[in-house]
Amino acid sequence: MSVEPITSPPSLLLFFAFAFGSIVGSFLNVVVWRLPRGESLSHPPSHCPKCGHSIRAWENIPILSWLALRGRCSNCAQPISWRYPLGELSLGLLYAAVTWNIWRNDLPLALLPGFFWLTASLLAAAQIDLKHRIIPDKLNYAGIIVAVLLSLLLPGSRLIGQELPAPMQASIISEAVLAWLAKACARTQPWNWRFVALIDLLLGLLLAAICFLVFYCLEKLPARRHKTEQRQLMGAGDLKCIAMIAAFLGADACIYILLGAAALGFVYGTAQMLWTKKRAGFFSNLPFAPFLAMPTLFWLVKGNWLYFVYRALLK
Ligand SMILES: [Zn+2]
Repeated sequence: MSVEPITSPPSLLLFFAFAFGSIVGSFLNVVVWRLPRGESLSHPPSHCPKCGHSIRAWENIPILSWLALRGRCSNCAQPISWRYPLGELSLGLLYAAVTWNIWRNDLPLALLPGFFWLTASLLAAAQIDLKHRIIPDKLNYAGIIVAVLLSLLLPGSRLIGQELPAPMQASIISEAVLAWLAKACARTQPWNWRFVALIDLLLGLLLAAICFLVFYCLEKLPARRHKTEQRQLMGAGDLKCIAMIAAFLGADACIYILLGAAALGFVYGTAQMLWTKKRAGFFSNLPFAPFLAMPTLFWLVKGNWLYFVYRALLK
């Protein structure tokens, strides 16, 4: 059995991805606490919520500081929530897994900035939605702006035009568009990838707009029938979150992610209904961001969930 040396590129790359993820995770803890409360992300600097003691640099090292302090404030000895190191560890592991997927499939590292941003945003959105039942606009809009900037400045950061591994294929829409473009403007080949990246992004946003229209109409229907109660299937924040995912990954990936989110939401909603034996809360007030985050993170780490289900069924 051959043992890989510790300094081989993947291990080092994965270590840096993990370290970077845990540092971003540390900042994400601040985002998750302050953003839904409308507080500034930069001011005041990190401090103990119980005694106000400013966190010094050595107390701010992801995961390690919490362990060194044994989960207590160095000043007042009050416990520091385990959620902080868990958030740092989770994002570190997710960044390492996303990087591993890209490395293993020989995909360009240019995909990383967008994938990292989306991963962090979804982890924050899921946590905030679970606690506060909102997804802050700032989180969704910032993601969409970053996706637009990446399309313009780093067109290779998108999935379109990449030689994707089987679980990430099934790019029906983008392939049709590329084929149509090849016919329509044969002379412009080889592609201007910035143009292709922007088209891919716009198709994603178009899909999100269609979702928005569908849910807008669905909400109107029951409201007209029973005037007393207006049910909300999906909030505006959820739809903006879909737009952010679609802006990063394009329409094709987003369709499978939406299917996954709908399936998870349905299973959870049904289980909740059977558990509480109440129909009133059926599918209303579901925190939808975790259901969107799960299939998206699965896509980033492994590929299309439906591909694996299909493969398992064929066996
Ligand atoms: Zn303290």
